[in-house]
Amino acid sequence: MNSKKESDSGGKLKQGELPRIGVLAIQGDYAAHAEALAACGAEPVEVRNPEELEGLDGLILPGGESTTMLKFLGMRHFFDVLKTYCSTHPVFGTCAGAILLAREVRNPAQRSLGVLDAVVERNAYGRQIDSTILTAKTELDGGPLEMVFIRAPRIVAVGAGVEVLARREGSPALVRQGHTMAATFHPELSSDRRVHRAFVQIVASAVQP
Ligand code: GLN
Repeated sequence: MNSKKESDSGGKLKQGELPRIGVLAIQGDYAAHAEALAACGAEPVEVRNPEELEGLDGLILPGGESTTMLKFLGMRHFFDVLKTYCSTHPVFGTCAGAILLAREVRNPAQRSLGVLDAVVERNAYGRQIDSTILTAKTELDGGPLEMVFIRAPRIVAVGAGVEVLARREGSPALVRQGHTMAATFHPELSSDRRVHRAFVQIVASAVQP
């Protein structure tokens, strides 16, 4: 899991070349992620087919509805291709994307990619109307972090290799495990770009020689 592998750009970026980061664009708020990536010095690429993962230096799995995404991923071996991609490249899952990355999903149990050593409980804070914006301390530089939660999952357990970068009421809300990142909130909906910048840095260092 999470073995560091040379990226598809051949292990390094040429001078002036931006890391190319895919955003899974099946459903959900992928456009806001693409904007955030562009603001952080990456080239965003919308991904709708398994073939489009080729040549990408990293990938974001956005928020949305994980069950809908799973249905789509069930077609054309997309799930298996994505699982291989995510276990060998930097990947960042937000909200539904974090659910897809987890080792185990509860409430109810569902299939997941299993690349993040975490147990995630879906819709752990109630219905859509219970969505909320919180500000909490973070391990990222620059002070407290705004976190927009929408029908958010809760990370109920993480393995020893998972670093917690921010919490909601004691539960991990932003985590990193090697080149894998996950957030139970929607960083693309805040104007603060520190979370996307942190991921772009992970991608950039993975493609450095
Ligand atoms: N409730 C959604 C799910 O279980 C996640 C919500 C979100 O991504 N904002 O997939």
